[in-house]
Amino acid sequence: MSIETIAVIGSGTMGNGIAHVAALTGYNVVLIDIKEEFLERAIKTITKNCDRQIKKERLTEDQKNGLLARIKTSTDLQEASAADFVVEAATEDEATKFELFRKLDGLCREGVIISSNTSSISITKLAAQTDRPENVIGMHFMNPVPMMKLVEVVRGLATSDETLQTVAALAEKMGKTPVTVNDYPGFVANRILMPMINEAVYCLMEGVAEAEAIDTVMKLGMAHPMGPLALADLIGLDVCLAIMEVLHSELGDSKYRPCPLLKKMVAAGHLGRKSGKGFYNYG
Ligand code: NAD
Repeated sequence: MSIETIAVIGSGTMGNGIAHVAALTGYNVVLIDIKEEFLERAIKTITKNCDRQIKKERLTEDQKNGLLARIKTSTDLQEASAADFVVEAATEDEATKFELFRKLDGLCREGVIISSNTSSISITKLAAQTDRPENVIGMHFMNPVPMMKLVEVVRGLATSDETLQTVAALAEKMGKTPVTVNDYPGFVANRILMPMINEAVYCLMEGVAEAEAIDTVMKLGMAHPMGPLALADLIGLDVCLAIMEVLHSELGDSKYRPCPLLKKMVAAGHLGRKSGKGFYNYG
């Protein structure tokens, strides 16, 4: 099936980035969220990110206008029925995603691939919500999507070779490098990254060092471009906690227990950049 229109479900940190890159590649995008204000915020973010690229002479005003014209927004999931391909990028919550996959399966034409940008939820379980498990796959973009090269392509137990090839080719068309992995909690990226972030939060909680010192050790000592606490703020502390909870419950090893300080910050609504406060303040 040739892909012309892509539905992106969820317009938060990741959804707006995926919509941006898909529209820049020339696809028509239907960006769907539950509230109009979230969609307005997403379009503002995409516009701001385009303007930054224009300043750096990496994008022209014409490209920006074309890109924005190709993105249609809606609060009605029904609009996904027009899509030739779906990327689900809604909140990292199993019940939310299960319900979305059941509804999308009913809405989308036969043969349409329904992918998920989930960081940790089982692709095999998402596929089992549908009557098209062979067409369900993980398409795990990295944050910020317009900048980061990797797409972790996650193969569920029933994912077909054809679906895998289509998604890898689509990722390449979007200027990304696909890497195929199998469906295990956290896949590869978050199986390794999140325990590191969680341990950095333990270091902060136990007073081993201040946040800036922890981040500086990892930046200067391990050549990480960003410290783990600054990265957690960028990802969203709620997303980090949700991933740790999946690793903990699915793998059953106490080494994945989420740090109490991470839980407390999420409970307080200190979610990182998106809420203006996390391990650092964002004015
Ligand atoms: P976010 O909280 O910024 O955005 C999620 C959006 O989904 C919100 O706007 C919310 O209103 C919307 N949403 C919730 N239920 C919905 C529904 N039923 N229909 C439509 N929209 C709905 O979260 P995010 O950081 O963009 O994460 C989205 C997904 O991407 C998650 O699965 C997450 O694990 C994954 N992910 C996140 C990152 C990251 O760095 N934040 C990186 C890779 C993957």
